[in-house]
Amino acid sequence: MMVRMQKSTAESILLYGFENHSPRPFDCPVCGLAMRDARDRSSFESLQCCYECKESFYYLHSDGWLKGERPDDEELANYLRKRGTRPSYSF
Ligand SMILES: [Zn+2]
Repeated sequence: MMVRMQKSTAESILLYGFENHSPRPFDCPVCGLAMRDARDRSSFESLQCCYECKESFYYLHSDGWLKGERPDDEELANYLRKRGTRPSYSF
């Protein structure tokens, strides 16, 4: 059943979605990079991050992660630097 999800601030655009639907962001809330595929979608649904963040941060600090802790700015900068050196076709 379609229900009204939210109203834009401009009052001219209404968004509709399915009942009990929770929209996913285009970008990972942790690293800010685009969520690309089913692995990212699955990771977001369980841990609210992309697959790469799950692999890089969650498995190292799962107890803290589940309490809401996320990488600090320095960890995130190092992580993004490493990801930036990998070829884009690498998964
Ligand atoms: Zn991420």
